[in-house]
Amino acid sequence: MAIRYRALGFILKKQDIREADQLFTVYTQNTGKIKILAKAIRKIDAKLKGNFQLFNLIELEFIQGKNHKTLVNALNVGEFVRIKKDLKRMKAGYQIAEILDGLVRKEQEEKKIWELLEETLTRLNNLNLSLNRLRLLYYYFFWNLVSILGYEPQVYKCVFCHKKLIPTGLMFVPEVGGIICSGCFEKSQKDESISIEAESIKIIRLILKKNWIILSKLKITKDNLINMQEVSSMFFNFLSN
Ligand SMILES: [Zn+2]
Repeated sequence: MAIRYRALGFILKKQDIREADQLFTVYTQNTGKIKILAKAIRKIDAKLKGNFQLFNLIELEFIQGKNHKTLVNALNVGEFVRIKKDLKRMKAGYQIAEILDGLVRKEQEEKKIWELLEETLTRLNNLNLSLNRLRLLYYYFFWNLVSILGYEPQVYKCVFCHKKLIPTGLMFVPEVGGIICSGCFEKSQKDESISIEAESIKIIRLILKKNWIILSKLKITKDNLINMQEVSSMFFNFLSN
């Protein structure tokens, strides 16, 4: 008989495949990201299906086959009810799942990622957050994940000349992993780069210090978030390619 394995994890993604099967992406506590096949889940096992909702914390049992893991059983051990009931929270949740899926490739235990995910989803579920604050929580997850994965950007000094950053004409350059000053930028001719505002630098520094208390009170405008969005998505695209 095949060995049954157990894992505790959050469901990040589900895809329908073939007629009644689904492929789930689960971020687990001990193995990191795994993909698991649930056979005929759309047809027969309504109870099992109920446990397999996005963002649920589940304890799952599976068999390791030659090509994939097949689900045997799943038990729901935690649910983020407010995420699922609120479209804005749900959208942020999807984006968090998407960056985790895009940046983490292999099965590997990473306690810090697990803790970051748990912390972020708990905040997403429990706190009353404005739209701006929801965006900020998403960036909190993104930049801390990047840092855990070993790509923490240099946001205090110019990557090239190592001088302290003076907030004019600063450029974020994904390829060199941080910010370069206007003088160095003129000399370097980096194609992929984006202007980064002082406010974005301040936000990223607070995020990397994991200072949610300050971040939750920080005055932020729509414009600040537009620049954060541009910088973050450029970095994400660079890292996920
Ligand atoms: Zn410089």
